[in-house]
Amino acid sequence: MFTCATGALGDNQRTMIGIVSRFVVLAALFCFGTAASAAARVEHVFIISIDGGKPEGIQHSKMPVLQKLVKEGACTWLAQTINPSLTLPAHTSMLTGVPMEKHGVTWNNWSPSNGLVSVPTVFTAARQAGLSTAMFVGKEKFRHFLQPNTVDEFWYDAANAVVVMKSDSGGKVVKKEGNIFAIQVATNAAGYIIKNKPNLCFIHFTDTDTIGHEFGWDTPEQLKAFAETDVALGIIQKAIRKAGIARQSVIIISADHGGHGKGHSQGTPEDKTIPWIAWGQGVRKRFTITDSVGTCDTAATALWLLGVQPIAAMDGTPVISAFK
Ligand SMILES: [Zn+2]
Repeated sequence: MFTCATGALGDNQRTMIGIVSRFVVLAALFCFGTAASAAARVEHVFIISIDGGKPEGIQHSKMPVLQKLVKEGACTWLAQTINPSLTLPAHTSMLTGVPMEKHGVTWNNWSPSNGLVSVPTVFTAARQAGLSTAMFVGKEKFRHFLQPNTVDEFWYDAANAVVVMKSDSGGKVVKKEGNIFAIQVATNAAGYIIKNKPNLCFIHFTDTDTIGHEFGWDTPEQLKAFAETDVALGIIQKAIRKAGIARQSVIIISADHGGHGKGHSQGTPEDKTIPWIAWGQGVRKRFTITDSVGTCDTAATALWLLGVQPIAAMDGTPVISAFK
C-alpha cells in the first residue's frame, strides 16, 4: 500500500563529553558569526520524529494521514540512523547533523550533570539567523537541547507524563521514564503553531517506542500505537493549515530508530532503518528518494530549506533530490 524505496548509509560510535558544552557552542558562534541567511526556500519547517518508527510498522498500520503525505510527497523507507540506535544520541544526530563521535551525546536519559549538547543544533543556527524555534516532546531528555537562547518554546508536558518501565531486547528492565502520549503532544503543539507560526518546529511522538518496549515491535499493540500517532500527525497538519502557513511549509517525518523484539539498540538493520518523508512546498510529489539518506541529513535539509547556513560543518547533506 505504501510505495517508495531505497537508500543506505550508516554512522557512528562513541566518545565521552565534558561539561564544556556551551563553551563550544559559544566558540562556534564567535568564530563563524551570525548564520548568514541564504535564499530561503520555505518559511516553516516541521521535523516530526516518530520514536521507534520502524518502516514496516508504519506500512502495516492504519495511517491514512501519513499515507496521504507519502503520496503527495517524497520518501524513502531505507534511511539509516546512527549506531548504537539509541533515542537521545540518534535525535542529537538528527538535530545537529553530526554523528555521535562528534556530538558526544552517548547517554540516553535526562542527566543534568552531563550538560547540554555541545555542538550547534539546528535551533542554534535558525535562532542566530533570526528565525523562531520550538520543540514539543514526549520525553524529558530533550532538555539536553536547551542551549541558551536557541529554543523559543520547549514543551515537555510533565503534568501529563505517564511513568513507564523501559526494557531492551533482552527483556531486562533498564529504567523508568516519563512519556507523554502523541495526541497530548500534538494538541499542545497545535495550539502553539496556530498562534505563533514557528519557523522551525520539532515534534516528537513517543507512543510507538513506549508500546514497543512493553509489548514488542510489530505487535498488534504497537500497530495500534502507530494508528494513534497518525491521529496526532493529523492534528499537526490541521494546525499548520489553520495557521495559514501550509503553502510556506515543509514537513519532514522520520524516526530515531526502528526496533525488534522489545528493543532497538543492537545495531541490526531492523533497529537502524528508518523512514524519511518530506511533504509540502517544493517537494516532489509521489517521489521515491533513491539517494542514501542518513539521519544527519535531516538537520542539513531543514537549514537548507530555511536558507540558513549551518554554524559548524555538518556530516549530513540536504536531501536535494526530494525537492523541485
Ligand atoms: Zn527512541
